[in-house]
Amino acid sequence: MTRGEFIKMCSLLGIGLPMGATAESCGKSENPISQGDKVIIIGAGAGGLTAGYLLQQRNIDFEILEASSLYGGRMKRTKDFADFPIPLGGEWLHVGTEVLREIVNDASIHVDVTTIPYDPNLDFGLLEGKQISIEDAGFTTDQKFINSSWFDFFEEYIVSSIQNRIRYNNVIESIDYSGSRIVVKSATEEFIADRVIVSVPVKILQ
Ligand SMILES: Cc1cc2nc3c(=O)[nH]c(=O)nc-3n(C[C@H](O)[C@H](O)[C@H](O)COP(=O)(O)OP(=O)(O)OC[C@H]3O[C@@H](n4cnc5c(N)ncnc54)[C@H](O)[C@@H]3O)c2cc1C
Repeated sequence: MTRGEFIKMCSLLGIGLPMGATAESCGKSENPISQGDKVIIIGAGAGGLTAGYLLQQRNIDFEILEASSLYGGRMKRTKDFADFPIPLGGEWLHVGTEVLREIVNDASIHVDVTTIPYDPNLDFGLLEGKQISIEDAGFTTDQKFINSSWFDFFEEYIVSSIQNRIRYNNVIESIDYSGSRIVVKSATEEFIADRVIVSVPVKILQ
């Protein structure tokens, strides 16, 4: 998730964060979530997990409804090819590494993640089949995880404290805002909430 996506998530939640510019961006909402509200988050990808984690920090009741049997969404590992997990992407940071501490949002937690910049002598981009330099690809300030990935970061720092709030194998089919409370339905279950955060790819919403 980019810093921009993170900030957008805060705005959606109507909550503020206790830090510099991010707090300014996230602190205003005409209709903020109140203590006592029940929030349903649809999707356990990076966006949904971060939303749940922020709500947990504010003692707000929430549940994450996930269509598949796994958390992580597009951040993935596979055991299909070997007996050990192979990361399937999500190793690149297009923003500064401070975003990791911002997502964790707790100064008492030491975020132990190693990243390095791309090496202009080794790494390159591809454009229409042609090799282009890191500079031309616009990757000069980007970093990559070493011995870990976005998935590992989320697993260690975010998912560990909210795992029991994720309900798997719930493909949400409808959200009804017409009543006093919101009704969220899968094929087999119905959930009631005061707020709903939809954190699925735009393609699915379409
Ligand atoms: C191969 C690959 C490599 C990548 N590498 C990087 C990288 O290096 N750096 C980087 O910053 N980004 C990378 N990305 C992009 C990054 O993974 C995504 O931007 C990010 O994971 C999106 O998170 P999300 O929570 O918005 O959505 P998703 O990860 O798509 O999560 C949405 C979740 O919603 C669930 N869902 C969907 N429909 C429903 C429904 N009806 N009911 C309930 N649940 C539902 C899905 O199952 C999923 O778990 C990569 C992506 C891919 C595919």
